[in-house]
Amino acid sequence: MRPECLYGLFAPLTSLTGVGSRFAKLYAGLCGDKVVDLLYHLPVGIIDRKRKASLRQVISGQVITVKVEVCEHQVPPSRKVPYRVLCKDNTGEITLVFFHAYQDYLQKALPVGETRIISGKAEFFSGKLQMTHPDYIVPESQLAEIPEIEPIYPLTAGISGKMLVKSMRSALTKVITLPEWLDEALQKREKWPAWDKAIQAVHAPKTIADVEPNNPCRRRLAYDELLANQLALALTRNAQKRLAGREIKGTGKLREKVIACLPFALTNAQKRVGEEIRADMASKWRMLRLVQGDVGSGKTIVALLAMLTAVESGKQAALMAPTDILARQHYAGLKPLAEAVGVTISLLTGKDKPKEKAETIADLLSGKTDIVIGTHALFQNKVEFKDLSLIIIDEQHRFGVHQRLNLTQKGYLPDVLVMTATPIPRTLALTMYGDMDISKIDEMPPSRKPVKTTVIANNKIEDVISAVKRALDTGAKVYWVCPLIEESEASDMAAAEERYALLNALFPGRVGLVHGKLPPTEKDAVMNNFAHGNLAVLVATTVIEVGVNVPEATVMIVEHAERFGLAQLHQLRGRVGRGSKESHCLLLYSAPLSETAKARLNIMRQTEDGFKIAEEDLRLRGAGEILGTRQSGMPEFKIADLAIHGDLLAIARKDASVIIETNPNLEGERGDALRTLLYLFSEDEVFRTIRSG
Ligand code: ADP
Ligand code: MG
Repeated sequence: MRPECLYGLFAPLTSLTGVGSRFAKLYAGLCGDKVVDLLYHLPVGIIDRKRKASLRQVISGQVITVKVEVCEHQVPPSRKVPYRVLCKDNTGEITLVFFHAYQDYLQKALPVGETRIISGKAEFFSGKLQMTHPDYIVPESQLAEIPEIEPIYPLTAGISGKMLVKSMRSALTKVITLPEWLDEALQKREKWPAWDKAIQAVHAPKTIADVEPNNPCRRRLAYDELLANQLALALTRNAQKRLAGREIKGTGKLREKVIACLPFALTNAQKRVGEEIRADMASKWRMLRLVQGDVGSGKTIVALLAMLTAVESGKQAALMAPTDILARQHYAGLKPLAEAVGVTISLLTGKDKPKEKAETIADLLSGKTDIVIGTHALFQNKVEFKDLSLIIIDEQHRFGVHQRLNLTQKGYLPDVLVMTATPIPRTLALTMYGDMDISKIDEMPPSRKPVKTTVIANNKIEDVISAVKRALDTGAKVYWVCPLIEESEASDMAAAEERYALLNALFPGRVGLVHGKLPPTEKDAVMNNFAHGNLAVLVATTVIEVGVNVPEATVMIVEHAERFGLAQLHQLRGRVGRGSKESHCLLLYSAPLSETAKARLNIMRQTEDGFKIAEEDLRLRGAGEILGTRQSGMPEFKIADLAIHGDLLAIARKDASVIIETNPNLEGERGDALRTLLYLFSEDEVFRTIRSG
């Protein structure tokens, strides 16, 4: 149960002065619906209202605070015309401008002949100084109402800066002293204030340095967040480790037969990772392992071999892919190999017909099926297994720690293997997968060819099209990826459809189109026609991003490459260079590019090393953007920025492991404090995990 000391902080925002349900809703979209969420909504800048200038000293565009005398009200003939109030001091004049103004209010606030202090952004318009909607208008006696330094917060429609400052003032009254969870020596060394002092301070910046992420107060709060994350992962991992698993040893017979069927030899990295997996499966503990391997590094076969080990022991295995296309592709690729060695394999997706689905499910329960490939439909309640001992989750960022654990309740203590093709920088891997053991397939099959990458402005699209024509003449296959214009699938599709129409007019009958809205059977037909039939150009939205394998494809064109994440571009580029011919990747951008965008596209040109790309991406952008935070299952940090606070993450990780070693049940005073920390960052689900384990 949440400690009592946190009740005030976890109260709904409506408990604050001036926040009703309407504002609470707006705040919920901005930062969250609890007081603590607002407190963790930190300022990004400051407005300095200290500067008391005379009108002559004003610099256009700057916020000033100045004493003026009100001279004249220019009441407009209609509310469509702005209301103006002319003011002056003994150095110059200024016009205050109000849109949709209320005359009564303005005449009261700015009586002619009196002096007022005004504060706001002043600007010159055709040589005349004016201020539109001053932030403050007060008589001199109330000067204290104007804060000297005002924090600037990220806002949302319907919430003004002034409003937010007011709500924050109310929220700050709920801040109380919490038990200290920090390691004493660390806190001393870093000279970090207590939690309550830190929170108060970050909302009362005095200089611009106070809103920098490396300000000690912010670093403390960032550290708290990272420690909560790492401690939750360490506790989960610890609980998981203590769970007895089953010793799945396998005979090696099926595995050897399949290896003998392959037209290639396994790379050393594939062999090594395979051994790591088998050792985990054979041990009496549960496996919880992440396999990281760049696009094309050959994860699929590693997965199959692991599943065969389970089958050799008379058990079942399940492979779960994030999309229908991928599940079908895995199924199509693995079926011949499985069947060649007498292993039964089936496919289960949400799109199956009810009758087929029922049959598939029945065969899993009876044990007739050894291996099942599917989407998340695999983990609906209806699906039961005879004896599931291995779950493999492919290309999966959409799963949080707790969801991973839920999956494991399907089988009789199944081993879990997560495979990802998105190279994740070390820091990120620690926050996402700190509860798992990690294997890396860090070697490419020798068949893999380097891809030549060119960055081109999109006004040269005609050159690109003639390059496509030349490529097609030599029998090449071409991917053409259309951009995500808005966060909506509809507009995404429109762009792809338009491009399809254009290309199909140029190369009639040879162009296919796939997008997220296509029914799976049609999608399959198009993909199939591209892989084996007469389609030579595949126009696609990013549905082809992960996993699709057409070795004959040698050209990848990405429109509006600047709108994609580097990890995404890397994934897309990984679709080519799979065959024996030289491959090209053309990244089209629309000018002008920002410096960051330029740097990012340059990285793509310079390297094909996914890990290097990921590290650079983290450096150039925030962590959240890399994986597309929202769907990623990645912890969304409120304060910590991994590009900046990476050093803190390393400390938090160490701290967490010391805690697990010395105080795994979080006992005593520090234990209580650490529990409070976990609740504070809503990591309390971990307690349920530990108990159920
Ligand atoms: P990914 O890691 O991206 O999932 P895949 O498993 O799809 O990669 O493998 C990519 C391609 O490389 C496939 O065509 C696969 O058959 C081939 N491949 C896998 N391992 C090897 C190897 N050791 N030598 C040569 N080709 C391989
Ligand atoms: Mg794969």
